[in-house]
Amino acid sequence: MSEDQLASALAGRCPVCNHGSVRHWGEKSTRELWRCHRCKAILCTTSPDRTDSDRLYEHYHDEARFTLAPIVQASLERVVSLAEHSRSSGRWLDFGYGEGGLLEVAQRRGWACYGVEISRSMLDYGSRKGWTVTSDPRGDPRFADGTFDVVTMIEVLEHVADPVCLLCSAARWLRPGGSCTSRRPMPAA
Ligand SMILES: [Zn+2]
Repeated sequence: MSEDQLASALAGRCPVCNHGSVRHWGEKSTRELWRCHRCKAILCTTSPDRTDSDRLYEHYHDEARFTLAPIVQASLERVVSLAEHSRSSGRWLDFGYGEGGLLEVAQRRGWACYGVEISRSMLDYGSRKGWTVTSDPRGDPRFADGTFDVVTMIEVLEHVADPVCLLCSAARWLRPGGSCTSRRPMPAA
C-alpha cells in the first residue's frame, strides 16, 4: 500500500472501493488493522516498501517442505479445473508462486508455466521444474503484456506494497478474455 493509500485509510476512506467506512478493526503482531465495512477489505497501517518486501521474502521458503494438506491440494486442483475454459495459448502465470503447488498442478495438466517469486530458493526450484521464472517481470519479454490465458495470485495481494498496482499488472498480462484468480486467507484464521 502506498503512503497516499495509507493516508486515505487513516482518514476513513477505503483505498480498495473508495467508500468512507473504514474503521479501526484491531491489532495483530503489533500492527494496527483497519476494516472497510462495505467491501470488507482489511488494511494494515504499517506496510513494507519494496525493499523491505524483498528482504522479508528472499528466504521465506528456505525451509520448504513441498507437502500440501489434502484440502489445499484439492483447492489447487479446482483452481486449475475452473481455468480450463480460458485455455488458448496455454500460458499460465502464477504471481508469488511460493513452493509451486499450483504450478505443479497446471504443469501436470499441460499448461506452460510462468512464475514470479522473490525467494531465491524457489526461483532455483522453478527453473529446475522447467518453468519460466523471474523475481521481476517488468520489461521482460518472456512476460509480455496480453499473452497469458490465466494469471493467479494465491494469498499474495495481502503481502505486496501496492495491491492495486499488481491487479493492474495482472490485467495487462492477460490476453483479452483471459481469467484472473486471486485468493486471500480468512482474516480470522
Ligand atoms: Zn472498501
